[in-house]
Amino acid sequence: MGYQKPKGTMDILPGEVEKWQYVESVARNVFKKYDLHEVRTPMFEHLEVIIRGVGDTTDIVTKEMYDFEDKGGRHITLRPENTAPLVRSYVENKLFGPEHQNPYKAFYIGPMFRYERPQAGRLRQFHQIGVEIIGSSNPAVDVEGILSALDFYKELGVEHTKLVINSLGTRECRMKYRQALIDYLEPKFDELSKDSKRRLHDNPLRVLDSKDEKDKVIVENAPSILDYLDEYSANFFNEVKALLDGLGVDYEIDHRMVRGLDYYNHTVFEIMSNAPGFNGAITTICAGGRYDGLVKEFNGPETHDAAFGYALGLERAIITMEAEGVEIPTATDVDVYVVGLGETTNMETLKLTQAARNAGFVSERDYLNRKAKAQFKSANKMNAKVVLTIGEDELANKIVRVKDMAKKEEVEISLSEMYADFGQIIGKIIAG
Ligand code: ATP
Ligand code: MG
Repeated sequence: MGYQKPKGTMDILPGEVEKWQYVESVARNVFKKYDLHEVRTPMFEHLEVIIRGVGDTTDIVTKEMYDFEDKGGRHITLRPENTAPLVRSYVENKLFGPEHQNPYKAFYIGPMFRYERPQAGRLRQFHQIGVEIIGSSNPAVDVEGILSALDFYKELGVEHTKLVINSLGTRECRMKYRQALIDYLEPKFDELSKDSKRRLHDNPLRVLDSKDEKDKVIVENAPSILDYLDEYSANFFNEVKALLDGLGVDYEIDHRMVRGLDYYNHTVFEIMSNAPGFNGAITTICAGGRYDGLVKEFNGPETHDAAFGYALGLERAIITMEAEGVEIPTATDVDVYVVGLGETTNMETLKLTQAARNAGFVSERDYLNRKAKAQFKSANKMNAKVVLTIGEDELANKIVRVKDMAKKEEVEISLSEMYADFGQIIGKIIAG
């Protein structure tokens, strides 16, 4: 048996990769409008960075990490997410200084690694597009962040989305709520799933997030965190809602929505898709929230210790587009195809192809010494707008045949004339 890629990974091949490039370019264009700037951090980090950031009782840290000791004895992990690495980088590079953008507005695009049970839209190497805005506790930042994600899906042509928000308040609110939740869940302990039994005491809020059907029923009547918000948290959440209302953004509130990472407080949100192609299944395609406190956790300055961010799955964005029947451009079209006939024309065929490329056109040729008919078939398949033909006779007469594929007209032009004015001649034909 031949070699196979590791479970939960993908080869993104031509025909498919264009979708990725397209989605990435849409993200870049949207984020540019928001003054968000790309950051590229390493694919692996010291394990400590992730534990500090994500929390040591989360699924990500306890079950899903690709960690190892490197040859120098350092405990390293492939990054499972990019908020902690970004905050690490923000503090390490002192991006809070007066010469820097404040708040710091960053985005990233890249692979993340989690040891999960692979299924549709769930991989071990997957890709996230994410935004982090660090240094402001203005609720407008939360709303702007959410809007940038909604804009992204809108630009992709994804329409069946639903925005869900909640507030987790401050750590103090959560501590009080935590106890209320434990009090509610404890009498039902025996009915909880194995995972939730374990979570009940080290991370009870995670029980609310359980995907187990029985857990979901139990959790339905759990107390609401929104009843435990202190004054600042309640005001903050009201302000977020008022801003969303003011901008005419539709949303739902789900008081049971918590996130899988420990660093969140105040606003959390998810964007869900109920695309027709999902046949009623609802999937989270984007998730994030506010993480005041994380900058300080990384020894950054208290003055810049307020932040908001989110991450969305690239695979899930593409699956969602497909489920909504959005056309994704995957063109392999060329402008100029050069038909070279006979082995002696190999050099001139290459020269013509290069001349086309140098003049700014997408150009392709035959490399297999195929017959004219087969080469024209390739040209048609690639929707070539112009076909140049050079055979042994043409070469001897120092000419090339130039065919306008739209008008189906062919003319002979001398090679010297052609090379002198390549861009003009081809450009005119393509312009029609
Ligand atoms: P889930 O509840 O689906 O496991 P999560 O809470 O672990 O998601 P986050 O860590 O918040 O997800 O990541 C944000 C987004 O990244 C998700 O909404 C999803 O689009 C994507 N994502 C997360 N894990 C995976 C994965 N293993 N494969 C593909 N996409 C993923
Ligand atoms: Mg997960």
